[in-house]
Amino acid sequence: MAKVYIGVDLGGTNIKIGCFNEDITLISKTSIPTDVEKGPADIIDRTGTAVESMLADNSLSMTDLAAAGIGSPGVIDIENGIVIQAANMGFRNTPLKQMLSDRLNCPAVLENDANVTAWGEYAAGAGKGVKNLVLIALGTGVGGGIIVDGELLHRFANKGAEIGHMIVEPNGRQCGCTQKGCIEAYSSASSTAARAAEAIQNGADSSLKQLLDNDGEITCKDVFIHAGKGDKLAMETVDKTAEYLAIMCVSLLHLTGPERILFFGGMIGAGDALLNPVKEHFKKQIWTIQDEPLELCFATLGEDAGIIGNAALAMHTYK
Ligand SMILES: [Zn+2]
Repeated sequence: MAKVYIGVDLGGTNIKIGCFNEDITLISKTSIPTDVEKGPADIIDRTGTAVESMLADNSLSMTDLAAAGIGSPGVIDIENGIVIQAANMGFRNTPLKQMLSDRLNCPAVLENDANVTAWGEYAAGAGKGVKNLVLIALGTGVGGGIIVDGELLHRFANKGAEIGHMIVEPNGRQCGCTQKGCIEAYSSASSTAARAAEAIQNGADSSLKQLLDNDGEITCKDVFIHAGKGDKLAMETVDKTAEYLAIMCVSLLHLTGPERILFFGGMIGAGDALLNPVKEHFKKQIWTIQDEPLELCFATLGEDAGIIGNAALAMHTYK
C-alpha cells in the first residue's frame, strides 16, 4: 500500500495536523490545543497521539508513515532540525525534528512556518506550475519564503529568508527588529493600521477618527473599509501600503527572478482593493528595458497551507 505523509503546523493556540497521500490529497486533518505551558516534549507526544488516532480512523497505522514535516515560528537551525528560539512557543534549542521523528518512528523535516507556507502554495496552491516563486505573508509582521529553481532559498547557516526586513525607506519608521524603514514597519496589517492611527493623532482629518476615539484602536480592515468609502486618509494609507509592497516586489524580482509573487494572510481579504494598487505601483516602478512577465496574485490555500506545505516538504525531502 502507498505510504502517507504527515504535516504538522504549530501555532501558539492550536496544532493543526494533516495526513496526505502521495499526490498531496488530504486524507484527514485534525487540530489539538497547543498548551504551550506544558512544554515541547508534551506537545510532540500529544501530536503523536493525534496522528495515531487519525491513522486508525482511516484504517492506517504508524507503519504506513513515509515521513513527516513540522513547521514552527521562530529562529530555526534547519540543517540540524533545531528551533533555536520561538518565544511564543516556549522553545529554546529544541530539537523538534528528532523529537517528531522519534515519536512517529519515521523521518522528519523541520522548517520555519513562512517557508512552509510558501512550499505549500508551490506544491498545491497558487504557485503550482512554476519553479521560481516568492510568497509574502502579511499579518502582524511581514514574512515569507523564496523558492528558486524548485528549492527553498536558505540564507547562510540555514536560516530562512527575512523578507519582512528589507528596507524600503531610508531612516524610516522604527521596526521591531531594531532597523528603521523595513517593509514590516509599513505594509504589515498592524503597521497599516498604526500609520493611519498616527496620522489621525497628528491631526489628520478622517472618518476613522471616531472609530479610534471610541475603540482606542483601528484595524487594517477598518482602514480598507473606510478607503472603500472614499475617506482620503484611509485611501492614502492603503496606497502607501501598496506602494511599498510594489517596491519590495521590484527588488525581489531583480534578486531572485520569481515567475509569481503571492500575497498571503488575512489582509488579502481586501481583494482587488489591495492587489490593484500594488500592480499599478509595480508597473510605475519596474524598469522598461525589458518586459518582466511577473504575475502578482493571491495565495489560495488559506489556513491549510501549513499542513500541506509541511507534508509536501517531507515528501520532497524523503520520497
Ligand atoms: Zn525590521
